[in-house]
Amino acid sequence: MSNSPNAVPARLNLAQQQAVNHLHGPCLVLAGAGSGKTRVITHKIARLIQTGIPADRIVAITFTNKAAAEMRERARGLIGAAVRDAVICTFHALGVRMLRQDGSALGLKSGFSILDSDDVCAILKDAGGTVDAATARQWQWTISLWKNMGLNAERAAQAANDEDQARVARVMAHYEERLLAYQAVDFDDLIGLPLRLLREHESVRTRWQSRMGHVLVDEYQDTNATQYELLRLLVAGRAPREARFTAVGDDDQSIYGWRGATLDNLRKLPVDFPELQVIKLEQNYRSTGAILRAANRVIGPNPKLFVKSLWSELGEGEPVRVVEADHEDHEAERAVARIQSLRAGTLATAGSQALEYRNFAILYRANHQARPFEKALRRAQIPYRVTGGTSLFDRTEIKDLCSWFRLWINADDDPAFLRAVTTPRRGIGHQTLQQLGAFAGRYKVSLFEALYAPSLGLTLPARSVAGLHEFGRAVDSWRQRAGQAEGEAAATAFLRDWLQDIGYEAHLRDTEDSPTLAQARWANVTDFCEWMAARCGGRIEDPSGLAGPQKVKSLLDVAQTISLLSTLGEREQDPNQVTLSTLHAAKGLEWPHVLMVGVNEGLLPFRADEEATESAQSARLEEERRLMYVGITRAQSSLAVSWSRRRKRGRDQVASSPSRFIAEMALDAATTREDPREKLRALRAEFARRSALAVPAGDSA
Ligand code: ATP
Ligand code: MG
Repeated sequence: MSNSPNAVPARLNLAQQQAVNHLHGPCLVLAGAGSGKTRVITHKIARLIQTGIPADRIVAITFTNKAAAEMRERARGLIGAAVRDAVICTFHALGVRMLRQDGSALGLKSGFSILDSDDVCAILKDAGGTVDAATARQWQWTISLWKNMGLNAERAAQAANDEDQARVARVMAHYEERLLAYQAVDFDDLIGLPLRLLREHESVRTRWQSRMGHVLVDEYQDTNATQYELLRLLVAGRAPREARFTAVGDDDQSIYGWRGATLDNLRKLPVDFPELQVIKLEQNYRSTGAILRAANRVIGPNPKLFVKSLWSELGEGEPVRVVEADHEDHEAERAVARIQSLRAGTLATAGSQALEYRNFAILYRANHQARPFEKALRRAQIPYRVTGGTSLFDRTEIKDLCSWFRLWINADDDPAFLRAVTTPRRGIGHQTLQQLGAFAGRYKVSLFEALYAPSLGLTLPARSVAGLHEFGRAVDSWRQRAGQAEGEAAATAFLRDWLQDIGYEAHLRDTEDSPTLAQARWANVTDFCEWMAARCGGRIEDPSGLAGPQKVKSLLDVAQTISLLSTLGEREQDPNQVTLSTLHAAKGLEWPHVLMVGVNEGLLPFRADEEATESAQSARLEEERRLMYVGITRAQSSLAVSWSRRRKRGRDQVASSPSRFIAEMALDAATTREDPREKLRALRAEFARRSALAVPAGDSA
């Protein structure tokens, strides 16, 4: 999200124009933060449409659904409704599109399910012979990394270095089998399977390649190996010299190494595409000189892939502030005080922009750091929203309801089956389910299919079979009605009847500890239902970019895209609130006033893994430095960086020191340390001036 006014018609400098007008060959825009890379992409979408390329042949890939929605909005501002059919979405959403259309070539039906991280963990726990959650998460991590490197279970087994890795590779093989049986994919498969599709199926490949009029990729530095391969194959319909794509990125902002993102993708481009036009942008339009200088100093020590120099015409601006605090709660209080004084205009930095809460962001390294800040903001009655944290879709009650949607779309989705059949409880016990599971395993069918097998009666008592049949009938009949619930009114009525029928509100009352909690959960359910219904009526656009806008859809159509949103864990909308965000989730965004908090050694940079090799440690530090750089460069007019002398670790408070990055920003301590006395002095001086009174010498406030 950007807070700067969207000037129409917006300007482009010469280098930007050059990038926008390079239409018939590969193009890489390589430039520092805030230099207008994303703006190039938006303008280029408009330009391509103007030159007569059908909008549906333009594919623009962004890092988040939210960025996609904003890009569409901006492009619409430039060229109007013509942008409607352009595909503007994330790599994952593009993958879903490809798989829904052509996944059958890989044995995947079009209604396949997308598993969320908890489902994956549960399957791994089971596939590995019931281990603890921490081990399962560890495996999940490893398997995800392998998948992003393009390894399947077989190749991972061959590449395994030790018995531990060999074991994970075996678990991965079981896991892959189960996913196929469930007709389900995980998040990484949304890239890996489309890639396989293109590699192994020539007719599918040529069809997709001929659809690619131009592919544009934002935040290119954070693509991983499989994403690069997917991109390369998509644009390979033409000779490399005519490949029609535009990638924009900044090697200094590569912060997703832990997800397998690799700067090799930047190195590979000029090799794979020798005629690549490389364009550099040097003017920063976002930040003041002081902020930019701090950013450049922090990133300075990193080895450079490409040399860049950034300058800004926005003037020196206010110095970057360093704020010290005694402990985390104190740090939070000081952040709130800063927001309040900027809003009240008592700090010189304020300007007119400071009045709105949406102009402030508090950025931190890890989600858990948000808590004291949330508490302090609530106490001060300042509205805020937490992004990149738990979203509506991560909530138990919403997952409960989504399990029914998943089952309607894909009856083979066993994890969804188990959740739907037990929430709310309908008298089908654990033992019955275990026996059903064993039966399904024996005949290699899904739980739902097993339900109707005539021989099930030989394994299970008649009463249990009857209960299961009743559940099956309920799923089928509600599925049929969901498919007919077209438009907002019909969807609303449907959801009301369905929730009533499964007794969900009563279930919340029975299972929650307190009536207040039950009510809060029920309020989430009603919010969610309203949101779903509004999408059926086309009132809300599909942020995943999967379904076209403004069409009346049935509830089943809408439900198809839900799992993607839940996997990405993103919320909509952007009201007038202070943003709390992790540094990772802040990538690409900007705010007039940024407070980076918890800038302590051990947090940013994160404490080093002492067992790692020296080169791994230094690579790690380079990535941390980029993270700091990303944080600093989110700020437009003011930046405060805070740290606290003591931090909670478990139950204890431990001494902590400021991040080395603060020293590296090379701020002049005397002028930059934010000191309450300074404000008092200024106030006194002002008071003195007005009342013509002398200020007592030797101010010791
Ligand atoms: P990041 O590296 O953080 O993703 P970016 O390079 O994508 O940044 P943009 O977000 O496109 O940069 O632009 C930064 C800000 O500068 C935005 O507010 C944008 O509107 C503005 N901007 C970009 N180009 C110009 C220009 N030529 N004239 C005026 N303002 C511009
Ligand atoms: Mg950008």
